[in-house]
Amino acid sequence: MLLEGRVISARSRSFTVETADGRLTCRVLKGLRNRFPNLVDPVAVGDLVKVRRGNENDSTIEEVAPRVNKISRPAVGREDHEQLIAANLGRAVIVQAVEPQWKTSTWDRYLVMAALGAVPPILALNKIDLDPESARAPEFDVYRALGIPVQSVSAVTGEGLPELIGHMAGGMTVFIGPSGVGKSSLINALGPGTGLRTGELSRGTGKGRHTTSWTELLQLDQGIEIVDSPGLRVLGLWGLEAHELAPLFPEFAGLIESCRFRVCTHIHEPDCAVRAAVESGEVAGFRYESFLRIRQALLDEVERPRGGRARRR
Ligand code: GDP
Ligand code: ZN
Repeated sequence: MLLEGRVISARSRSFTVETADGRLTCRVLKGLRNRFPNLVDPVAVGDLVKVRRGNENDSTIEEVAPRVNKISRPAVGREDHEQLIAANLGRAVIVQAVEPQWKTSTWDRYLVMAALGAVPPILALNKIDLDPESARAPEFDVYRALGIPVQSVSAVTGEGLPELIGHMAGGMTVFIGPSGVGKSSLINALGPGTGLRTGELSRGTGKGRHTTSWTELLQLDQGIEIVDSPGLRVLGLWGLEAHELAPLFPEFAGLIESCRFRVCTHIHEPDCAVRAAVESGEVAGFRYESFLRIRQALLDEVERPRGGRARRR
C-alpha cells in the first residue's frame, strides 16, 4: 500500500517525507527517476508524493503529483539538466537591500524567475534601518500597480516583519535574491525573536555549506513554512528561450496580441504594441530596459552554451 505525503527535505538523493504515519526517510524509485531523464532528481521539497514504506531509512517514493508551480534552475556542472529546488509554493519573496543598493534590473530578473515557475512574487527591501527614505522610491509604485506587493523590512530591527509574515500565510515561502542582501538574516529573524518556534532552525546562516543539493522546509508557528536551500541563492532561468520572455512581464502579456506581427521581438517591428505602450508611458521604461537586457542575455547563452554542451532544454 502506498502512503501519501509531502517532501520536507532533500539531501544527496535522500528525501524526508511527512506522512500521516510520521516522517520517513526515502529514496526515489529507479523507474520514477528514469521517467524524468532531464531532471537531476524527479522530486523536490514541497512535492506531494506516494511512498512505499520499507524498513527504517529504506522507504521508496514511487509517484509524484503534478506540480502547481516550482523553482528550478540549470544544474551546476550539468546545465542540460533541470534541478528542481522546490515545488508547490505559496510565495517567492524576492529580497534586495538598501545596501548593496537595489536595482530594478535585479528585481526584474528574479521576477522573471518567479514567473517562469508560476510562483507569486513579493518584493522585500531589506536593511530599511539604514535609510528609511529609500522605501519611497517611485519604482515601487510601478510594481504595486502590477499587483506585486512591496514590503520594506529590517532583519536587524524587525520592522516590517509582521507585514511580511502576513504575506506568507497559506503556503510555503522561498526567499530569493542576490547574496549579501540579508536572506539568511531574514529567515533567522523570522524564527527566534518573533515568537515563532526555532527548533527547526538549526542551520545557522547557511554559510559554509558546500552542497547545493541540501534543501529543507523550516516549519514555524502560525503555519508559516520557509524553504531554505543554497540552490535558491543562485539566479537561474531554466529552459527559457528569448521568444518566451515577453509574456513573463505581466504588463506586456495583454499587449502582445495587438502587435502587428504574430512573431514580434518587440524591438524593431512596426506597429509593436509593447513599444507603443512604452512610448505612451503606459509601460515603465525601466521595465522595457530589463526586458531587453534579459532577452539579450538569453540569446548570448544560446551562442555560448555553458559547459560546452548543446543548448539546454
Ligand atoms: P544573504 O547572503 O542574502 O543571506 O545575506 P546575509 O543574511 O548573510 O546578510 C548579509 C549582511 O547584511 C550581514 O552582514 C548581515 O548582518 C547584514 N544584514 C542583514 N539584514 C540586515 C538589516 O536588516 N539591516 C542591516 N543594517 N544589516 C543587515
Ligand atoms: Zn511587439
